Amino acid sequence: GFKCGIVGLPNVGKSTLFNALTKTANAQAANYPFCTIEPNVGDVAVPEARLDVIAEIGGSATRIPARMNFVDIAGLVKGASKGEGMGNQFLANIRETDAIIYVLRCFEDEDVTHVDGRIDPMSDFETIETELMLADLESLEKRKPGLEKKLKQNDKEAIQTMRLIETAIAVLEEGKPARTAEIEDDDQKAWRMLQLLTSKPVLYVANVDEDSAASGNVFSEKVMAHAQSEGAQAVVISAQIESEMAVLDDEEQAEYLDAIGLTEPGLNRLIQAGYALLGLKTYFTVGPKEARAWTFQEGWTAPRCAGVIHGDFEKGFIKAETTAFDDYVENNGEQGAKDAGKVRQEGKTYIVKDGDIMLFKFNV
Ligand code: GDP
Repeated sequence: GFKCGIVGLPNVGKSTLFNALTKTANAQAANYPFCTIEPNVGDVAVPEARLDVIAEIGGSATRIPARMNFVDIAGLVKGASKGEGMGNQFLANIRETDAIIYVLRCFEDEDVTHVDGRIDPMSDFETIETELMLADLESLEKRKPGLEKKLKQNDKEAIQTMRLIETAIAVLEEGKPARTAEIEDDDQKAWRMLQLLTSKPVLYVANVDEDSAASGNVFSEKVMAHAQSEGAQAVVISAQIESEMAVLDDEEQAEYLDAIGLTEPGLNRLIQAGYALLGLKTYFTVGPKEARAWTFQEGWTAPRCAGVIHGDFEKGFIKAETTAFDDYVENNGEQGAKDAGKVRQEGKTYIVKDGDIMLFKFNV
């Protein structure tokens, strides 16, 4: 599955946040087996209000949310790119993720030591990103000699790869992450093959003190401003509060949220932001037994989406009965939508849209 890596300096609240995420996943999906793939990988249910609406209208007995993975990547210190601390392992773990969540410490607490002795989220961010940029530069330089022979043979792929390596190096040497490079559509695939740490999409978590969970604080404002300058998302959260809230039942949670001035857990916003960061979209299936959310990627056709449920659905695909979420709701469900002419018969080339309710017809 798709993975978001949680990255940050020591003592910024990564584990607290990760534990809250995995506890919440357990609570939300009691009827769905929680699986721990590795100790630091959490398989998390994606909160989705539309699923509740569909299940309600469709009279479904259970609701099965979509899922995604979070990885707690501990061990970053200054010098990681030179193998300091757990440097190499740390970088290898990040390489395996699809997107990066930077957890930045925006809370003061004398009992929790900061590695640099002061609270400065943007300086922390620069420390981490510098290590990632150095690691990228090193891996790019290492790739060059291996291309020489093919370049001499005028190999097209090697020429493209070398050109992209030079592009990445130029950007990195300006002190900017590889994700800021402008890459043509035709080069995207080869660009991804470079597997750069700083070309992965990012989002920022400003981990604030308990009193600032709703309002944010002077530190989180800096994080927000930076995220905005990059066109990235930032989520203000108090990991401490989230970890306390994760173990409460729905009613207790609602009271707690009310008391601190929030309308929903910060974790919900974080999971949804992570899902969007990975470029993931959701379609639904609904029946008396269950309403279920399924994950696909922008641009996928109906057969490809059917394959998410089962390979046979893709192989034997005939057509899909498709209803947009709004049409389903406005017409009070499938029958109403049918009567109103809002249930479409879509074929093999249909590009599925976020929120579509799908019923696949297939040969076995
Ligand atoms: P990690 O090293 O980044 O994984 O950090 P941890 O999650 O282990 O947190 C380090 C310490 O900071 C722990 O004692 C946490 O209880 C504390 N901590 C984490 N988040 C918060 C927060 O939002 N507020 C306060 N006051 N303490 C926090």
